[in-house]
Amino acid sequence: MINSSQKGHILVLAFPFGNHANPLLTLVCKLAKAAPDVCFSFFNTEKSNTSLFSEPKSKGIPDNIKPYNVSDGVPKDHVLTGNPLEAVDIFLKEAPEIFRAGIEKVVAERAERRVSSLITDGFLVFSGEIAESFGAPWIQVWLPLPWTLSAHIYTDLIRQICAEEAAANGADEHWREHKKLVIIPGLSTMRIADIPDEVFPSESIFVNTLSKLGHVLPQPTAVVMNFYEELNSTPLISDLKSKFRKLLHVGFLSLSLPLQPLPESDSDTTGCLSWLDEQRVLSVAYISFGTVATPPPNELIALAEALEESGIPFLWSLRDNIKQLLPDGFVERTNKQGKVVPWAPQNQVLGHASIGLFVTHCGCNSVYESMANGVPMICRPFFGDHRMTGRMVEDIWGIGVIIEGGVFSKSGVLKSLALILTDEQGKKMRDKAQSLKEIVTEAAGPSGSAVQDFRTLVDLISSI
Ligand code: UDP
Repeated sequence: MINSSQKGHILVLAFPFGNHANPLLTLVCKLAKAAPDVCFSFFNTEKSNTSLFSEPKSKGIPDNIKPYNVSDGVPKDHVLTGNPLEAVDIFLKEAPEIFRAGIEKVVAERAERRVSSLITDGFLVFSGEIAESFGAPWIQVWLPLPWTLSAHIYTDLIRQICAEEAAANGADEHWREHKKLVIIPGLSTMRIADIPDEVFPSESIFVNTLSKLGHVLPQPTAVVMNFYEELNSTPLISDLKSKFRKLLHVGFLSLSLPLQPLPESDSDTTGCLSWLDEQRVLSVAYISFGTVATPPPNELIALAEALEESGIPFLWSLRDNIKQLLPDGFVERTNKQGKVVPWAPQNQVLGHASIGLFVTHCGCNSVYESMANGVPMICRPFFGDHRMTGRMVEDIWGIGVIIEGGVFSKSGVLKSLALILTDEQGKKMRDKAQSLKEIVTEAAGPSGSAVQDFRTLVDLISSI
């Protein structure tokens, strides 16, 4: 029985893959500071919790957040193939039971508190049922690009459009590149080829979980977006607002604005910032493919060859397991021109005056960080929301280009580098990127809508 005089206890359910748990924890930290009487139990796998709650990162985490480990669902004797989707599917198959078991234990331990709401990653579509079992409101956090939420909500319609096109065109699949989703509000510039693979029919549990998003629409009390409302001038927002009970934009969760210098606890161990200090203003190409995407070996080689031939200074954040795929002697030959590091303080790098452009995989956090710093982009999208994000960068925001043919070739990279760094078109992109930076700065400021929406969220979690 709920006793409303008891203090609140919020159950937070994380999606432990890619870069999801990190921005969710950032939001929860902000909420925990704003609502110190409420306690937050953060359910996540051991692997993901270890990376989030270990020093030095854990230093800024408020005491009213407690991490709890849940199983990753992988049976003891099962050897994962290395395909990231396999681990996601195994987890999601058991996830409702995995979370229920973890929650039951913690709720019993913290019986002096009442479960006042669930805050969950938007991918955990089944969480509404858990919230219902506690009679508690469900707050969904949508971390990818907002336009992908629409693609998932309209999954049935998109599948129907594709079936009709396929029937009309037979074996010729070119329509995927051209067919625009004009009838879906906010998606009119998106082509079928931009839509995440997870929208299309598949045996995957991940795909089947996401396909239910449109079916649980009225359930969440609020949906929280990792985005600024001021940046979205398409009909998307009004359409999403008409579908959800409350749509709140709390701004970009992977960075605090105005941009902060690196905290002492997170020193620039790879020496990126001191190296950038020695470079000319707007001269450097920064390259990163985020935490998951891995370009095929031939594309890595093409990109490396183009960089070397261009002579453009570069800073390349490249995970060690991929670095070995670079052409023989590349790192040594280019050690005056560039720097290859396993990890870079990306926000601070993108905010450095020497950065002229960003070669990105179009992970939404990377693109947001580039926008917040006014840096134009060369996009090489891979999966998930990347292609839709690339389309926004090129066609709607006009702050970058999608690489020719969608994949790195030496000539395509050389062309894009020249376009952004030396052409008149590149100058226009930089000007637009600067204008968007101003919009983001304003949106993140005291009179921006993110402050207001965050306050609404705090009121919501504190009053229940
Ligand atoms: N990142 C970083 N340093 C690196 C590479 C990545 O700080 O060397 C951060 C980046 O700033 C961003 C996140 O990792 O916040 C990557 O998230 P994104 O959504 O761009 O891509 P994902 O890793 O989810 O594919």
